[in-house]
Amino acid sequence: MAGMLGEVKLTLVQGDITEQRVDAVVNAANSSLMGGGGVDGAIHRRGGPEILEECRRLRAGHYGKGLPTGQAVATTAGRLPARWVIHTVGPVHSASQDRSDLLASCYRESLRVADTLGAASVAFPAISTGIYGWPVDDAARIAVEAVQAADTRVDEVRFVLFDAPAYAAFEARL
Ligand code: ADP
Repeated sequence: MAGMLGEVKLTLVQGDITEQRVDAVVNAANSSLMGGGGVDGAIHRRGGPEILEECRRLRAGHYGKGLPTGQAVATTAGRLPARWVIHTVGPVHSASQDRSDLLASCYRESLRVADTLGAASVAFPAISTGIYGWPVDDAARIAVEAVQAADTRVDEVRFVLFDAPAYAAFEARL
């Protein structure tokens, strides 16, 4: 499914983000940048060790304490069909605290980094909806609103949803 969201072409795909032919794929990383499960594990497995090497260099330099929640940073995409991986750290869902703005920030900051790279197409997973426990309907609303509000030069934003319920949640928001 595809449509326009303001100036940005928005595409929904059910599938694996590591297979996307786009300029940049976004990784739902954790703040250590040292890999993990879910999307993060898939990206490092498929992209190969070059990505982790660059993450280690980031940790040795500017990101000594790790990448803060809601921020984004780019590395090579190694062997992936993309040119760059943009790592962002989603918030862990909390029932007692509203962390929506941090989740929106992941989308906003990733697009800002994409602009600095000159990336025209960017693929996002449903950040925070796996291990970090965010209900997918609410995460879809936040993701779509954040992209809509973003001031970006990116032409195509592709949401890559792993399963049918996540796809349906994003479809319902468009
Ligand atoms: P988080 O820690 O931010 O919750 P996860 O990687 O655990 O991140 O999950 C985020 C979402 O990505 C979940 O909806 C999960 O089903 C989905 N996902 C897992 N693997 C892939 C993949 N290879 N491509 C796209 N989405 C994936």
